[in-house]
Amino acid sequence: MEILDSVVIGAGQAGLSTSYHLKRRGLSHVVLDANAAPGGAWQHRWDSLSMHDVHGVAALPDADSPTGEQGRANVVIPAYFGSYEREHDLPVLRPVRVDRVESAGDLLVVRAGNRSWTTRTIVNATGTWSQPHLPYYPGIGSFRGEQLHTRHYPGPEHFRGRRVVVVGGGASAVQLLGEIAPVAADTLWVTRREPVWRTDDFTPDRGREAVALVEDRVRRGLPPTSVVSVTGLALREQEREAERLGAYRRRPMFTRIEPGGVRMPDPPSDDGVLWPADVIVWATGFRPAIAHLAPLRLRSERGGIQLDRGGTTAVADPRVQLVGYGPSASTIGANRAGRAAARGVAAWVSRQAPERL
Ligand code: FAD
Repeated sequence: MEILDSVVIGAGQAGLSTSYHLKRRGLSHVVLDANAAPGGAWQHRWDSLSMHDVHGVAALPDADSPTGEQGRANVVIPAYFGSYEREHDLPVLRPVRVDRVESAGDLLVVRAGNRSWTTRTIVNATGTWSQPHLPYYPGIGSFRGEQLHTRHYPGPEHFRGRRVVVVGGGASAVQLLGEIAPVAADTLWVTRREPVWRTDDFTPDRGREAVALVEDRVRRGLPPTSVVSVTGLALREQEREAERLGAYRRRPMFTRIEPGGVRMPDPPSDDGVLWPADVIVWATGFRPAIAHLAPLRLRSERGGIQLDRGGTTAVADPRVQLVGYGPSASTIGANRAGRAAARGVAAWVSRQAPERL
């Protein structure tokens, strides 16, 4: 039976960066990816998302950044990842969806359907895209119109002439409103908390502060918030038309959903006012895709996976590294986490199997 030094689960930015660093250190591994093609979650993002919109992505280790400012993110980044995998000859196997990871004495067994891999460590790099978060609201099942999550955003034309409720206080809600408001009959933006607008430019210091906030949460074993969500909101040039139309006049959450729309907590009647709606767009974020790690019982009693000070090693089981999770859930963070995870794997392997290194 072959025993690998590591199995990397997921071939997005975090998984590819990890694989690069594992390879440089001479650590045996495979990268298992559920997608049929390279590109991680980027290949599934909506067509109207350009490289300019995402402010580019961080360069993978030992590579230039992707070119094509105006290109579609869901084309440019998958092509970039694909050529990176080929150029560095990374051992990516796909499509392989990991169902579960089990402990077997000192080793771990990674299972995907009827296939399995035995390994000393794993690096989990599964991102969040497969776990859209849909909060429950009273009456949600009764709505006669259409409901969709950001994950399934079909582009603005779908909303032409319709009355659209957008739920959520993050950057996705702002971007989608910017596209939908100019073509929709009307839009209503609702958020649980007052949105935080950035008045100054986004600086590296602000980025570090945002990461530090999330880092602190995972060190304490709390569920992470999204790094991207704590950086504050800003309107871009292409959102000015929606702003002029009043799309960014934020309203508090509706009290319930009804067949014909959403009930707003407004006077004049105690019962509020019905805002008739054709579509509800849930821009309510994503959660870490980690169900396959459940057999390892990594979650702390505070609901998250506690990571050590290095930011990638699970305190409950140091054979497990998490990258693209919590503080490293950004393209820059994922890159750095790949290096830290490879270091963590090397440290474990040198203790458990010194003959390997
Ligand atoms: P992903 O790119 O999601 O890749 C994960 C891979 O794991 C996928 O290929 C998936 O198929 C695979 N996988 C999942 N489950 C399994 C399984 N069980 N078995 C095998 N494979 C599996 N970051 C920025 O820095 N700037 C931005 O502008 C930005 N915008 C974003 C917008 C949205 C809507 C979202 C959701 C995120 C955004 N991010 C942004 C975050 C950023 O995209 C990621 O944090 C970063 O790219 C790292 O991705 P990743 O490698 O962790 O995951």
